[in-house]
Amino acid sequence: MTDDHRVLLLGPPGAGKGTQGKRLAAEYGLDVITTGDALRNNKEMDISELDVAYDTPGGFMDAGELVPDTVVNEIVVTALSGAEGFVLDGYPRNLDQAEYLSEQTALDHVVFLDVPESVLVDRLTGRRVCDDCGATYHVDFDPPAEAGVCDECGGEIVQREDDTEETVRERLRVYEEETAPVVDHYRETGALAEVSGEGSPDDVFDRLTDLIES
Ligand code: ADP
Ligand code: ZN
Repeated sequence: MTDDHRVLLLGPPGAGKGTQGKRLAAEYGLDVITTGDALRNNKEMDISELDVAYDTPGGFMDAGELVPDTVVNEIVVTALSGAEGFVLDGYPRNLDQAEYLSEQTALDHVVFLDVPESVLVDRLTGRRVCDDCGATYHVDFDPPAEAGVCDECGGEIVQREDDTEETVRERLRVYEEETAPVVDHYRETGALAEVSGEGSPDDVFDRLTDLIES
């Protein structure tokens, strides 16, 4: 099963990559790999040979600095190489990263989750996350059983600082500038499968499993 389950999920913020990535991972026994988690899990990795400002990824993170592409590349590929099958979410974010990735691994499914901008804004401004375990909710579309309390772990549910309307608009703008070209790149190579991300999470999941199993 492993060989054909290297999945790259692309799409704007709010398209449902996190939601669907988790479901796909559970369905097919895959690792979900996000840049943030990969960085947090490898904070102490020795990157002195990369010749950057700090000797570990944690150095950048603790200083509140942007982690350079070379470091992100190294970390994500280390995470990929330890996985049997994977869902990659949130990487590559730009064309340089996409080029690096293509030198490191083959992908079986490159999927673009297509969702109109007005829907994205509604989803992101209503998104809530568990402060303890990271589970994702939505105030209208996917509320927890008890307001403010995580179904999975009982933790506190909060709004991410970057899910306010103003920040959401800015994130969508940055996405258009940096990451939309990555989508165009995969479209040009013929690798891209475009899937509608509209409708309920179950609807979208059915489309994704159809694609992956076809
Ligand atoms: P991404 O990882 O692409 O940024 P998320 O998976 O975090 O997106 O989803 C963004 C928000 O939209 C979350 O609050 C999530 O609960 C909600 N959401 C995800 N998929 C759907 C859907 N199909 N319909 C309605 N809301 C959704
Ligand atoms: Zn939780």
